[in-house]
Amino acid sequence: MYNKYVDRRKEILDLIKDGEQNAKRLADRFGVSLMSIYRDLKALEEEGIITRKYGKIELTSRLPQKPNPDQKDICAFCQKENPDRLKFTFYLENGKQINTCCPHCGLLMYKSIMEPIEAIITKDFITCNLVGGASAYYVLGSSAAPCCTPSALAFGRKEDAIMFKNGFGGEVFEFDEATKIIWDLMKYGSILKITKFNRS
Ligand SMILES: [Zn+2]
Ligand SMILES: [Zn+2]
Repeated sequence: MYNKYVDRRKEILDLIKDGEQNAKRLADRFGVSLMSIYRDLKALEEEGIITRKYGKIELTSRLPQKPNPDQKDICAFCQKENPDRLKFTFYLENGKQINTCCPHCGLLMYKSIMEPIEAIITKDFITCNLVGGASAYYVLGSSAAPCCTPSALAFGRKEDAIMFKNGFGGEVFEFDEATKIIWDLMKYGSILKITKFNRS
């Protein structure tokens, strides 16, 4: 009698390993009552092999790790998960970091950072090398928008920024200007409209 239960539990466990999550289906499969399956599941649960949550059966070892909110790489401005390639990070004097997904969010965020900033690091859009955010050149409003729009992309060298602009449009700005223009871009939608507005 005991062995029968143990065998069934082993088979149940194999099915759970294959992805089965439903007690009713297990009962049908073994031709036993739901109560019997619940007893088996309870035994497996007590051994710490499975867990049952919201009616689903899962292997304990396969449970996804709870995300640690401190470690999760989320853009501090738009909450998007940070794609590493365009990351724009502020290193504060107090040792903290503020990560944003791309120069668009970084430039928009800049004015609202009250703590002293030790360094700003981003990546060159072409080479992916780390570049200092404050000395980088920014192409704003180009037609290439791999992350946020209006697009803002960083370049270590001015020549590269100009070449990119020639291909994809937009305008080249240094950091200080870029932190202002990005807000205008958000407001007016295009570099052309900003220029018209400033002329009139
Ligand atoms: Zn963002
Ligand atoms: Zn972005």
